[in-house]
Amino acid sequence: MRKVTLIPGDGIGPEISKSVTDIFEAAGVEVEFEIENAGEKVYNETGELIPESLYKSIEKNKVALKGPITTPIGKGFRSINVYLRKKYDLYSNIRPIKTLPGIKTRYENIDLVIFRENTEGLYIGEEKFENEEQTSAIAIKRITKKGSFRIIKAAFEYAKANNLNKVTVVHKANILKITDGLFLDTAREIAKDYPGITVEEVIIDNMCMQLVMNPEKYQVIVTMNLYGDILSDLCAGLVGGLGLAPGANIGEDIAVFEAVHGSAPDIAGQNKANPLALLFTSIDMLKYLKENEKAEQIEKAVLRILEKGEVLTADLGGSATTEELTAEIIKNL
Ligand code: ATP
Ligand code: MG
Repeated sequence: MRKVTLIPGDGIGPEISKSVTDIFEAAGVEVEFEIENAGEKVYNETGELIPESLYKSIEKNKVALKGPITTPIGKGFRSINVYLRKKYDLYSNIRPIKTLPGIKTRYENIDLVIFRENTEGLYIGEEKFENEEQTSAIAIKRITKKGSFRIIKAAFEYAKANNLNKVTVVHKANILKITDGLFLDTAREIAKDYPGITVEEVIIDNMCMQLVMNPEKYQVIVTMNLYGDILSDLCAGLVGGLGLAPGANIGEDIAVFEAVHGSAPDIAGQNKANPLALLFTSIDMLKYLKENEKAEQIEKAVLRILEKGEVLTADLGGSATTEELTAEIIKNL
C-alpha cells in the first residue's frame, strides 16, 4: 500500500474528503491515507495551527491530498495554504481546465493547463503601511530568475511531453518593466531550447478577454503567482465552476494535491458541496503515483454520471447531496 497524507481541512473539506476516501475504498485503490489535521478546527481544539506530525507525515510520504484550510486571522500565519507551498518549495501550481461532458457552459472543447508560479510574486507577504495614519501602504512583488526559470521550464516540458505546440506566457511587462520584464525575458530564453513550440506573449488584461472570447485556442498558459490565481478561477468558471476544478502543487520531490476552491464556509456542513473538484484532484494524484488503471476507472464512472446529468450537486444545477453523488459514483465504478 502506498501511503499518502490526507489533510481534510476546514469548511466543506471534511465532507469532500470523506467522499474521496469512500470512493477510493470502494474502488480498491492501493493507497492508504494517513490523516493529519490543520487549520481552524485543530487550532480551536489544540491551540496549534499545524501540528508537527503533519510535517513529518508529508516529509515521509512525499505526496499529500489536501482539502481547503482556513487560517484564523492574527495567528501568526497569513495563509496556511501559501505557507505549505513555500515551506516545501512547491513551485509549480498546475491547474488543468477541461470541458466536461454533460456540463452546460458557454463553451465547448476547452482543454488547457495553467502553470502558476507558486512561491514568489505578490504572495511573499511583504506589505506595510508607509505612514502612521495608515493612509498609504505598499506591497512588494518579488520575481527571481530562478523562480521564473523553473515554472516556465515545467510548462515547456509539459507541452513537449504532451505533444502540444504552443505555450502562452502571460505578463504585464509593459507596465512592470523590471519584474514582469524579467519573467518575460526568462521565457524568451527558455523558448530557444524548444524550436517545435510556438511562444505567445499575452498581456494579462488582454488574456482575460481572449479567454472569455476564445478559450479553446489555448493549451498551456504559464504566468506569475497572482495572475495565475485570478486566471485559474476565471478558467474554472468557463468549464462549470469551482466545484469541478482540480489542482496540484509540485516541487522537486514533494507534491501536494488540492482543489482550486477554498473552504466554502457558506455551504459547509450542509451535505451540499460538490466533491468532484477534490475527486478530480485525487485522480490526478493517482496518475502522478502511476496508478493509472484505478485513476481511469474512477474517472470513467464520474464522466458517465456527468453525461447522464441526473445526479448532480446544486452548483451544477442538480439537487443531489454530496453523499448521494458519492454513492452514485461508487455504483458506477
Ligand atoms: P476561502 O476563504 O477558504 O477561499 P471562500 O469564501 O473564498 O473561502 P471558495 O471556496 O473560494 O470560498 O468558494 C467561492 C464560492 O464558490 C462559495 O460561495 C462556494 O459556495 C462555491 N464553491 C466553492 N467550492 C465549491 C464546491 N466544491 N461545491 C460547491 N460550491 C463550491
Ligand atoms: Mg476563495
